[in-house]
Amino acid sequence: MNKDSKIYVAGHNGMVGSAIVRKLKSDGYTNLLMKGSSELDLRRADDVNDFFSNNCPDYVFLAAAKVGGILSNDKYKADFLYDNLMIQNNVIHAAHVYKCEKLLFLGSSCIYPKYANQPITEDSLLTGLLEPTNEPYAVAKIAGIKLCQSFNFQYGTNFISAMPTNLFGPNDNYDLQNSHVLPALVRKFHEAKENRLSSVVVWGSGRPKREFLHVDDLAEACVYLMNNYNQDSIINIGTGEDISIKDLAVLIKDIVGYNGDIVFDQSKPDGTPRKLLNVDKITEEGWKAKISLKSGIISTYQEYINQLNDKAS
Ligand code: GDP
Repeated sequence: MNKDSKIYVAGHNGMVGSAIVRKLKSDGYTNLLMKGSSELDLRRADDVNDFFSNNCPDYVFLAAAKVGGILSNDKYKADFLYDNLMIQNNVIHAAHVYKCEKLLFLGSSCIYPKYANQPITEDSLLTGLLEPTNEPYAVAKIAGIKLCQSFNFQYGTNFISAMPTNLFGPNDNYDLQNSHVLPALVRKFHEAKENRLSSVVVWGSGRPKREFLHVDDLAEACVYLMNNYNQDSIINIGTGEDISIKDLAVLIKDIVGYNGDIVFDQSKPDGTPRKLLNVDKITEEGWKAKISLKSGIISTYQEYINQLNDKAS
């Protein structure tokens, strides 16, 4: 990308899109295109085509998606499948029709089989059954990967697909029902400390393991890949390290400074037992995560408190 290339960040209000915009701006990219979902509904093909025909972006970061945690994925199955298919079909197709130079599609580590060998290499895609709690989301993301690869095959486009692990950081969703585990636990421990509660409920057994990547690291990786990676095959983005939900809860409890107990609610689903990404490929490409889990949670907690203070004032 040149500093004045026209770059469209789809989903710039979300956690991932906003991090990509911050990174592009700090790297000196000056010609960014952004449209919020209230101005442009990416599920509507005509509107997306009009937008592309009027603006003709050179580069597209496709970070717009319907996302959520384990309960939300399980409950809103139709929305997760339909919205994501529509958004990605429209944007990827328009990027081809309006001859964009390059597109980066963001998938997820949940595209891999539930019992994939760990750490998960990119070639485990479609080698086994998916985790049922997020199957519709995963099926949509797999369709997005195949759509990018099919356009590359049939029309010679340069559409690349990256698979980030579980993410956290600024602009995350803190809704207790629909969020992912890390922001949910930040909020639960903070509220328990403020209200002097005797315990905090953590869903499931605490035994599943997850890998967490700070979204600023992800954004750096995305810009790096846009500038350096031109392969058709998918590429994982992670830290290469994971932690049990129990140990994550203890870490967040310590950072927040809560002194009560942790109680596990085993009526809630555990989801997939483990999904640690193998990051050899992106390491060989020359990129590595920099933000440690502990320092990332410390800054995330500070941002969460700042947000609460902003709302109160
Ligand atoms: P997943 O990686 O797709 O399973 O998404 P989540 O981030 O929603 O959940 C990860 C793991 O954390 C699962 O085993 C959940 O049961 C567990 N977990 C523990 N407490 C919570 C919580 O308060 N919210 C969420 N979303 N997950 C929790």
